[in-house]
Amino acid sequence: MAIVHRIIPVGPFQCNCHVLADEATRTGVIIDPGDEAEVILDAVRDLGIRVTHLLHTHCHLDHITGTRKVKEATGAEILIHPKDRRLYEHLRDQYATTLRLFGVPLGDADDPLPIDGQLRDGDSVPLGEKRLEVRHTPGHTPGSCSFTLEGDAQRMAFTGDTLFARSIGRTDLEGGDFQAEIESIRKRLLTLDPETIIYPGHGPRTRVREEREQNPFLQ
Ligand SMILES: [Zn+2]
Ligand SMILES: [Zn+2]
Repeated sequence: MAIVHRIIPVGPFQCNCHVLADEATRTGVIIDPGDEAEVILDAVRDLGIRVTHLLHTHCHLDHITGTRKVKEATGAEILIHPKDRRLYEHLRDQYATTLRLFGVPLGDADDPLPIDGQLRDGDSVPLGEKRLEVRHTPGHTPGSCSFTLEGDAQRMAFTGDTLFARSIGRTDLEGGDFQAEIESIRKRLLTLDPETIIYPGHGPRTRVREEREQNPFLQ
């Protein structure tokens, strides 16, 4: 049985929220419920799955704003990397910073719910009979992670704001580290099977091979 994958761009920053559903067990996980919780929950209802985990590639507000509502509706476990805990807990400060830096007024932030567990390098999270592997890929934020899923026909990597199609994540925000990001990408992402499909946190998908050959930041 295959994994069904829906990409839902959400919120003013159009964060790619991913709903991954295992048809055999009717369970699923959500990566980055960044905003528009109702739209995400519509997809969950449509797929008819029980969501077990909410994974976060990192804890910038555009990746976690919908987490509270999706958790309240599904009961799924909230997982983040411990090094992004400060960002997660200071969601209100992130709203203020976003208004100041980008002029985007986001209204009032709900306080984040307590997390249910931590993501650590080498962990894996069940998705039906398969598992999503956790790779700590710091640089964009200290706790940035990528998730990989290996299947019979499909190899997928969810890279958050670490690696984009022909670009890389900004490292000038609090906690950013350019050298760490480049090292994460080179050692933990470009070493994946070249045909792996990369699903970034924003914008279109790409492949490991294409980024190795054509990403101007990695030549
Ligand atoms: Zn980010
Ligand atoms: Zn983002």
